[in-house]
Amino acid sequence: RELLDQTCRLANTLKKYGIQKGDKVAIYMSVSPLSVAAMLACARIGAIHTVVFAGFSAESLAGRIMDSGCKAVITYNQGVRGGRIIELKTTVDEAVKNCPSIKHVFVAQRTDNKVWMGDRDVPLEEEMAKAASVCTPESMDSEDMLFMLYTSGSTGKPKGIVHTQAGYLLYAALTHKYVFDYQQGDVFGCVADIGWITGHSYVVYGPLCNGATSVLFESTPVYPDPGRYWEVVQRLKINQFYGAPTAIRLLLNYGEEWVKKYDRSSLKTLGSVGEPINHEAWQWFYHVVGEGRCTLVDTWWQTETGGICIAPRPSEEKAEIIPAMAMRPFFGIVPVLMDENGKVIEGNDVSGALCIAQPWPGMARTIYGDHQRFVDAYFKAYPGYYFTGDGAYRTKQGYYQITGRMDDVINISGHRLGTAEIEDAMADHPEVPETAVIGYPHKIKGEGAFAFIVLKEQTAHIDRVKEELKTIVASKIAKYAVPDHILVVKRLPKTRSGKIMRRLLRKVVTEQSSNMGDVTTLDDPSVVKEILDAYQKYKEKSSS
Ligand code: AMP
Repeated sequence: RELLDQTCRLANTLKKYGIQKGDKVAIYMSVSPLSVAAMLACARIGAIHTVVFAGFSAESLAGRIMDSGCKAVITYNQGVRGGRIIELKTTVDEAVKNCPSIKHVFVAQRTDNKVWMGDRDVPLEEEMAKAASVCTPESMDSEDMLFMLYTSGSTGKPKGIVHTQAGYLLYAALTHKYVFDYQQGDVFGCVADIGWITGHSYVVYGPLCNGATSVLFESTPVYPDPGRYWEVVQRLKINQFYGAPTAIRLLLNYGEEWVKKYDRSSLKTLGSVGEPINHEAWQWFYHVVGEGRCTLVDTWWQTETGGICIAPRPSEEKAEIIPAMAMRPFFGIVPVLMDENGKVIEGNDVSGALCIAQPWPGMARTIYGDHQRFVDAYFKAYPGYYFTGDGAYRTKQGYYQITGRMDDVINISGHRLGTAEIEDAMADHPEVPETAVIGYPHKIKGEGAFAFIVLKEQTAHIDRVKEELKTIVASKIAKYAVPDHILVVKRLPKTRSGKIMRRLLRKVVTEQSSNMGDVTTLDDPSVVKEILDAYQKYKEKSSS
């Protein structure tokens, strides 16, 4: 009832300031009851929300606001995360300077600190207190937009993935119920941020459609200590716990005592999302956290799919679960594997490009403002099929094992990023004419970014340039996008037609240089040795 009250007051406040059905509203807030109310308030009046993860930079926020033509932003004065203050309003101020479409910035109070308020800024709680607590929901068509959410592709700027009303909600609700075996009265704990699709589908829409109690987690898994998740499980008696492999990998380094300190007997189902889960993390999650008695589901899906598409459950009761494998398609999902010639691969024990053969309710409907890009990105490679961008292996028993992205998209701590976006950001540095960014396996983050750069002047101050590049990436994209490694090379490996041979760089950073494959198409094959030598020296220097 409180959530409905907040949602209606917020909805009426938006209406008072001229927000109507079909308008776009950006939400730049940390996870909180009010940020959920902000999403639902938009939905209630038929406005379209675009939540921007509150770790994105002002420039990223501005880019999304401009692309979607948002009329308003809802934010907090400040955010609080892992014991740190995050200056959300300041970031919004910087972003909206260049966004003429923004008429109002609604500012809620997460902390007691005062922030600068200008002409278009509206103190949210004050207005909500004056607003009516009843707001009749707008009638919507099943195919009207519910929200858009920006995500990265292998080329170009992030794209606004569009989800609509009825299909998305149906799919979020059903997957929430059947994958996690949600039962009425259960407390569902998805620790994702609302800035990502997991937060949309399994913190907000899926659980709330099913009348569930949904846990909001604002902090980090190690604050104030590495027992945080399990303390929350004990205190709130969480029945389903849904989290990311990167957090599990981080926590398993701290030892079992942080888990065992807390009572986890309420747990029935554990879920993993966002990136491949490695065996060590799976086993630790299953045996240490779940005491070997909880169902553990590795769930594969994407921003574009709206909800979980491949997961071990639902299935026949007590059907086997193979560790670290998504295994079984959800109701209505028809996975197929394709070969290089665009032919469907039949049979088992085969690998290929993972496609989905028929539409399903939760699938994205378009990329906002660029339907052609939507068609090109997802339906062109294999006509008549939705191409996921991932590769998969179908086991001898017919289960699906995701093998990873087939394009230049990397996954840092479960956050998707195009390597081209990092390259574009670094291209702004006047002393760096060329860069190539490659994903490499990272023990905690799953993948990290490794940047190869060419300097204009070999005499340039390398350390200064590297620091400047890191600052540029943080301010143009977000901190998590900053490369872990920046290696200066004389030149990049290019084919005669001038294309960077990224596969060679991938071999270098994954240390498979003994098997470089065919290098005859390189403009000058001696570049390989040059880069390998530079990499070797860099490694020696870093380890000393
Ligand atoms: P996002 O849209 O940001 O959720 O990213 C989706 C991508 O994350 C997918 O295309 C996969 O590459 C990866 N991914 C998500 N879940 C899994 C999983 N369970 N196993 C392996 N990869 C996953």
